[in-house]
Amino acid sequence: MTPARHALERLREGNRRFVTDARISDAFVSRSRRAELADGQQPFAIILGCSDSRVPAEIVFDQGLGDLFVIRVAGNIVATSQVGSVEFAAARFGTRLVVVLGHSRCGAIVATLEELRRPNENQSRNLRAIVDRVRPSIEALFESGEHHGESALVKQAVRANIRASVNHLRHGSEVLEQLIQNEGLLVVGAEYSLETGEVEFFYE
Ligand SMILES: [Zn+2]
Repeated sequence: MTPARHALERLREGNRRFVTDARISDAFVSRSRRAELADGQQPFAIILGCSDSRVPAEIVFDQGLGDLFVIRVAGNIVATSQVGSVEFAAARFGTRLVVVLGHSRCGAIVATLEELRRPNENQSRNLRAIVDRVRPSIEALFESGEHHGESALVKQAVRANIRASVNHLRHGSEVLEQLIQNEGLLVVGAEYSLETGEVEFFYE
């Protein structure tokens, strides 16, 4: 089992390689690696990320097969099935690091801000379920007006949404709370920059 701090360091190093075009993970997606893993997995980190096509976790952290247990959903929101997926991996594989990975200019955040400005009655119920998850964390920010311009608002809203997902995972599950208290499970937030490729970890 990889301790959380060590896992975090591996992700930081992998992202550094990705940013500098020095990826080494091709060796870890080979036929022999696939065969090695057929009987079991021991992912060292769980990533709850956005579905955005520009933020594939394995690539931006330069990892191979079997390294990351990845859950992707628009806006990296936390609903029951996401909590269940994290619980499953943490309990079954002993994975000790959970990263909520949001990103700059997230479409789900932009869509929620649009909805706050101009509620759309015709929005599909399913899409609304995502917007409704994002809304509480950014509503106060939106109404306070304590931001300077649209891009600053989106930036702060992305952070607030990541923080809300981290909090939900930390406090919305007895299983995870137990693992945090007794087994060294760490849940952190992180933001990927579409512009630089860098991942900044925060809220550790
Ligand atoms: Zn997104």
